[in-house]
Amino acid sequence: MADQNGINERQRELFIRKSTRVAASYLKRAKELSELPDAAKPFFDVLENTYVKLADIQKTEDRKSIGTLCVMVPAELVYAAGAMPVRLCSGSYTAYSIGDDYIPRDACPLVKAVMGFGKIKALPAFDNCSLLVAPVTCDCKKKLAGTIDSVKDTIPLHIPPLKKDDADTEIFLKELYRLIPLLENVTGKQVTAKSLAEGINMVGNAQYEMSEFLKYRRHDLSLMSGTQVMAVMNAYSYMPVNLWAEQMHRLNEELKLRLSQGRFVSRKNQPRILVTGSPIAFPNIKVPLLIEEMGGVLAADETCMGERGLYDPVSVIDASFDGMMRSLASRYTKPCTCPVFVDNSQRIYRIKQMIKEHKIQGVIYHVLRGCLVYDYEYQLMEEAMGKMDIPIIRVESDYNEEDVEQLRIRIEAFIELIKMHTSA
Ligand code: SF4
Ligand code: SF4
Repeated sequence: MADQNGINERQRELFIRKSTRVAASYLKRAKELSELPDAAKPFFDVLENTYVKLADIQKTEDRKSIGTLCVMVPAELVYAAGAMPVRLCSGSYTAYSIGDDYIPRDACPLVKAVMGFGKIKALPAFDNCSLLVAPVTCDCKKKLAGTIDSVKDTIPLHIPPLKKDDADTEIFLKELYRLIPLLENVTGKQVTAKSLAEGINMVGNAQYEMSEFLKYRRHDLSLMSGTQVMAVMNAYSYMPVNLWAEQMHRLNEELKLRLSQGRFVSRKNQPRILVTGSPIAFPNIKVPLLIEEMGGVLAADETCMGERGLYDPVSVIDASFDGMMRSLASRYTKPCTCPVFVDNSQRIYRIKQMIKEHKIQGVIYHVLRGCLVYDYEYQLMEEAMGKMDIPIIRVESDYNEEDVEQLRIRIEAFIELIKMHTSA
């Protein structure tokens, strides 16, 4: 018999069989790229638990889950309210095909996958969230916030279209103040100056470990594969921040040892590639995998499921409650390089900086079909890369496996082009 979403048991069984098989196969391919550091295995286990074993999030404390639909929801505030944020931007091909029935054809696959999970009720990480917080960033997220409310209580969070002036930050600050009682209602706990400072410290520790990790990632020869790095970053969405930071510390120690022993996973002449563009959310890691399976080194990523989420720490100048709230509002808008903002020259600046830091030789610009905000910025990026004499390619993809062969051919040709370009 069909449930209130029109989905019957047979459909759910088929969904589970297919989605767990796809997730398991992508994890296997990522592990096989090169010897996975022992300390990276728990991050893979988290992705496996979430997407293959379909287990709920493992928590260290009794905290309710709050689903977040963008990197612009301050994790610090959710922790301060006694809950745990779970980032639900999904890359599931199977959930996308369910969501496709509810969301217009030309919308991006990411929102379709989120909607698919909302309808199918087969992902405990989603189903056990008490609330969703959906920043209204692009049109797809705006309409998703309105429609997903039918399956899960959703708080739309207004994001100012501009971020340069203090007046813009004030808009977001008001939104964060509006969010506080809504979170408190779910947890029954109050957000206090003490809990907010604790939340900022918890996330700050993770950011510190991330900054240490980036030092290893910038090494000329890679200490672990870039696709595995993206899996580690994706696991952050489904782990308590303190556990992620502790495990990251272990990973940093292991990479330090690998460095001292000269144990690298790349060779000198392999093209170093940066991937940027629309989110690369697990299990949709086909582009990173193809880059590395075709002989490139995924040396850096500028995506919101990767480095971007943990790159900028919250800087608290005034330790009063309002001072900390202002620091959060500023941190989650001003340095954000997502192209949903009107003026985003910062993004080009950041990518140029990353090209130098990571000695990048080519850029792959990933556009999810229907993701206009990223597509809009491709031209600017192409001009900027032209001036730096860095080859760039735009690859458009969807959440299915039908375009894999075409992507493989294009990525392989791009890698050959970089080789010729660097040897010329
Ligand atoms: S791409 Fe931008 S709007 Fe979309 S989830 Fe990432 S940061 Fe948020
Ligand atoms: S920014 Fe792009 S990928 Fe993210 S929700 Fe909007 S259209 Fe989809």
